[in-house]
Formats: sequence, structure tokens, C-alpha cells
Amino acid sequence: MSAGAELRAELVRAVAAVIDRHAEELTSLDQAIGDGDHGLNMKRGFDAVLADAANLSAKPWPDFLKGAGTMLVMKVGGASGPLYGTLFMALGKELPAEPGRADLARAFRAAIAAVQARGKSERSQKTMLDVLIPVAEALEAGTFEAAAVARTAHAAAEATIPLKAVRGRASFLGDRSIGHMDPGARSSALLIEAIGSVLEKA
Ligand code: ADP
Ligand code: MG
Repeated sequence: MSAGAELRAELVRAVAAVIDRHAEELTSLDQAIGDGDHGLNMKRGFDAVLADAANLSAKPWPDFLKGAGTMLVMKVGGASGPLYGTLFMALGKELPAEPGRADLARAFRAAIAAVQARGKSERSQKTMLDVLIPVAEALEAGTFEAAAVARTAHAAAEATIPLKAVRGRASFLGDRSIGHMDPGARSSALLIEAIGSVLEKA
């Protein structure tokens, strides 16, 4: 197996493991302000990517990411499936075969724009974007140290607690969505931390 393929396989194992470990927590966050399926949705999707890891990770970065994104769209379901699927598919479209840090920062920003177009959503609406956008800003500012990026992501997820949801199911609750962390913000922070800790060793 090439070094790239081994790294991609390790990434798949890391994201599937973190979602598995936190599936119940994501579900209970979604029980508070949604329909309680976010943990299960994410676990179904990332388990499917894990089951196809050998095939996916043999592909170069763009095809690997597009393949994983397509799988997430098919398997996660809910609102988050198409949105996470779009994020990974767009990363695959934007990244060159041998990506460097500058490519990553630029592609991540472009992938977020694709998620925003798909979700018709912006920052501060209490969604995954409230984590993804601050992480994009950190990367654009040249912060690539995994621990620092993870801190940014987790602080951003915490900062969704006082927000009122204006997108997704949680928006049906209006003011009652205030006081709970957004489940998609939490899953984004967990994914960012897991991905960062694998990439840092590469
Ligand atoms: P569903 O809401 O269909 O049950 P999930 O529970 O899997 O789907 O995912 C909910 C998460 O999806 C929310 O916590 C939020 O972060 C994210 N989300 C929902 N709608 C949007 C949107 N329009 N833009 C960005 N993120 C969204
Ligand atoms: Mg839900």
C-alpha cells in the first residue's frame, strides 16, 4: 500500500472511530433540539465509509474524497447527510492529487461555500457551519497545528449553545433551541479533531 493510501485508510478509521465513540452523545444533543437521529445517522454513514475503506483509500485524494462524500450522501440521510456529503465531495473536486497546506485552506473554504449553497445557510444560525467557518479562518491564517485547530473547533461548537437555531429542524423550536449545543456543530468539531490528529503525523 502506498504511503498516501495508508494515510487515507487511517483517516477513515479515525473518523469512523470518533463517531462510533460519540454516537450516543450526538443522539442526545439531537434529542434536545431535533429528532434524536444525528448519532445514528452519522454512525451509519461513517461505518459505510469504513466498510469500503480498502477500495476508497486506494484512490488518489480527489477520488477518495468524492467517493467518501457520495457514500455519506447515500447513507447518513437527514439534513446532515447531503451537507457532509457535499463538504467531502467539494473537497475532492477542489484538491489536487498531491495537496499542500495552502491547497487545503483554499479547498476547505470552497467546500464550505458549497455546503452553504446547499443548505442555504450562513454563520450564526446554529449549525455545523459555526464550527466549519472558524476552522477555515484558522487554516487561512496559517494555523495548522492539530491541537490549536481542535481547540478552535471545540470552542466554536460550545459557542453554538447560546444561539437560536434558524436552519434545520432545531429552528422549529425557535427560542427553545437556545441553551443547547448544536449536534452538527459537535460532530464537526469531533471530525476536525480526528482528521487533524491523523494529518499531523503524516
Ligand atoms: P435532521 O435534522 O434531518 O434530523 P441530522 O440530525 O442528522 O439531520 O443533522 C442535524 C444537523 O444538521 C444540525 O445540528 C445542523 O448542524 C445541521 N444542519 C441542518 N440544516 C442545516 C443547514 N441548512 N445548513 C447547515 N447545517 C444544517
Ligand atoms: Mg436529526
